[in-house]
Amino acid sequence: MIQRPPKKPIKNIRQPDFDQPSIYSLSLADLEDLALRWGEDKYRGGQIFEWLYTHRVDRFEDMMNLPKSMREALAESYSIDPLETVVKQESKDGTMKFLFRLRDGYTIETVLMRHDYGNSVCVTTQVGCQIGCSFCASTLGGLKRNLEAGEIVSQIVQIQKVLDDTDERVSSVVIMGIGEPFENYVQMMQFLRIINHDDGLNIGARHITVSTSGIVPRIYDFADEDIQINFAVSLHAADNDIRTSLMPINKAYDIDKLMESLKYYQQQTNRRVTFEYGLFGGVNDQPEHARELSELIKDLKCHVNLIPVNHVPERNYVRTSRDDIFQFLETLNECGVNATLRREQGTDIDAACGQLRAKESKQETGE
Ligand code: SAH
Repeated sequence: MIQRPPKKPIKNIRQPDFDQPSIYSLSLADLEDLALRWGEDKYRGGQIFEWLYTHRVDRFEDMMNLPKSMREALAESYSIDPLETVVKQESKDGTMKFLFRLRDGYTIETVLMRHDYGNSVCVTTQVGCQIGCSFCASTLGGLKRNLEAGEIVSQIVQIQKVLDDTDERVSSVVIMGIGEPFENYVQMMQFLRIINHDDGLNIGARHITVSTSGIVPRIYDFADEDIQINFAVSLHAADNDIRTSLMPINKAYDIDKLMESLKYYQQQTNRRVTFEYGLFGGVNDQPEHARELSELIKDLKCHVNLIPVNHVPERNYVRTSRDDIFQFLETLNECGVNATLRREQGTDIDAACGQLRAKESKQETGE
């Protein structure tokens, strides 16, 4: 039995402080509380939720079954349009990348991937990122701020509205866009509860995946949550020196600490962990690395997702050759590891893993 370490307080770094928070930041229970606080009946909260997620209205004044005074109070206290679509690009393979402008001028990217089993959205949780992985574009300008839960929810709502035109739905969500979700933990959990709710977008927990670079204290917290979504960890190396060179977060939470927290996660949830392993030419892509990896993870119920490095102009990592990629995969399989190669999508519009970037200036939006 693994005991978890004492809870560490969650530092809410760079949280936005808008006069009018996004209405999409409120869960159904929050909306019901709000109705009660305003001297209205509790069911009014449910009506607002329905207008937002079933009818997907853009204006409070369109919430026709609410008293006029309540619609006005909502419009005064909350924002209903936290995201403005600035650019919408479509790739040859149907992947779409959206550039959204936030109310304070920052822009973020969100990706819609089309699969034969449905439509998946890759959401962003922060404006930039401070984790500093040496291969990733999202971290280049540092962290500007965390997103509000509603700014994450709205990415899905905006894309759902695009899909409404063709009668399609967002069927799965991956929290793998810009930012480290476990550094925006409270807002991320709120986002999950909102999109997962049956009366709202109803995106099933099994169809949601969160990926972390390995913020160990939050992995313990996440293991104890009552929502069981899929969980991925960016590992990228089974050796501390190599991992630190790729991911400086490994200095704070090294591989031993990370593995211990994942064993706790598995003990609590009995769920499989996915390891993301980027193949960086000449760094971590040889058969001995594959064997080291299989040794490290042999006691966990897990799956390895191999990601050949995606080109980021500011970074000079090189791609592993095709032969070496398949040799790596084969070595893992021979060692009994369940591994697959990630299918790449949207590379022609820089929408692939690690290529998303927060664009800082308002001018820089024309692509
Ligand atoms: N911050 C979270 C969520 C990002 S998910 C995390 O680190 O897990 C995006 C995935 O793409 C991560 O596994 C990340 O390490 C990987 N990635 C980033 N840049 C990449 C690149 N240039 N090529 C391939 N994968 C990359």
